[in-house]
Amino acid sequence: MKNSSDFQKGPLEPASVTNLAAHPGMIDPFGRMVDYLRISVTDRCDFRCVYCMSEDMNFLPKKELLTIEELERVSATFINLGVKKLRFTGGEPLVRKNIMKLFNGLTPYLESGQLNEMTLTTNGSQLEKYAQQLADAGMRRINVSLDTLNKDKFAAITRWGKLEQVLEGLQAAKKAGLRVKINTVALQGVNDDELHTLVSWCGDEGFDLTFIEVMPMGDIGNEDRVDQYLPLTKVRSILGEHWTLNESDYKTGGPARYVEVKETGGKIGFITPMTHNFCESCNRVRMTCTGTLYLCLGKDDAADLRAPLRSSDENDLLESAIFEAISRKPKGHDFIIDRDADPSVARHMSVTGG
Ligand code: SAM
Ligand code: SF4
Repeated sequence: MKNSSDFQKGPLEPASVTNLAAHPGMIDPFGRMVDYLRISVTDRCDFRCVYCMSEDMNFLPKKELLTIEELERVSATFINLGVKKLRFTGGEPLVRKNIMKLFNGLTPYLESGQLNEMTLTTNGSQLEKYAQQLADAGMRRINVSLDTLNKDKFAAITRWGKLEQVLEGLQAAKKAGLRVKINTVALQGVNDDELHTLVSWCGDEGFDLTFIEVMPMGDIGNEDRVDQYLPLTKVRSILGEHWTLNESDYKTGGPARYVEVKETGGKIGFITPMTHNFCESCNRVRMTCTGTLYLCLGKDDAADLRAPLRSSDENDLLESAIFEAISRKPKGHDFIIDRDADPSVARHMSVTGG
């Protein structure tokens, strides 16, 4: 296993082409190159989606969170160690104060080519305000979560959200030239009657669409995920009755498998952690807003990066902590949805982000 001393040190300037060529990257014990980091910038959110949070959530005290400057420093360190793709998520990333300062601070890494992509997963509520600024910071495509096009259902799923606001945000994203992928959690008895509508709407709007299976993460109060869970094998067979779905080898660096819809020309992705384990090609790690690095979405093992980050202005300790963590990345997760069991993972999705 490589350790931090095998890797380039020094100032966190975007690397030159020579540096890039010399860079071996972060390899886990199973030979997977880790080049994708997702960062949850806040655990807070302006929605309370029924599969994600309970209505009365306790959020972290603000002092626990990494500052915007610390988030930038960790991001830059990961980029220097070989991360090529950064996705910001939450909670709702666009409710974090001064979030554009973080994104703008990372734009030079995109410009130098050291970072291939910087992107975002958002509920879309603040997009009208931010879409153009995101495009200006170098984002090219974003994921927007939307489970229904029905106003009342939307209010019921998100508890606090307004569909109109998200639809306006989506138009702003289009206007700013951002490519949009809609993320839809497949929910039994809730949006299973809207699957065709969603495919055709995405086709008309020029959005790709990805369906996600409900994952057993965090207590959600009175709701029960067994009732919510709709396997994507079923979604796919319902869609296949109406649309011609052609297999596609399209990849975005994430876990989705894609098909192309002949009639719309759009793509549909399926993220199937429950029915199909996608771990063998996992290239990702996830950091929470407190600087805890999770090696796998479905496991509790994690490494604290906040202490090494705060204990020195140099990055040596931080880099060592990152390499030590990568050397522990597990082979895969073992999610189970069971009526009598506690969630497989106690933390909420909003802690590590989607
Ligand atoms: N607030 C942003 C949003 O909703 O897009 C980003 C964070 S949210 C946690 C990221 C994604 O996780 C969303 O697409 C959401 O639908 C999904 N999600 C949340 N809880 C989930 C769960 N238990 N199972 C599957 N997906 C979940
Ligand atoms: Fe908020 Fe996203 Fe969770 Fe919904 S899924 S409650 S929008 S963090």
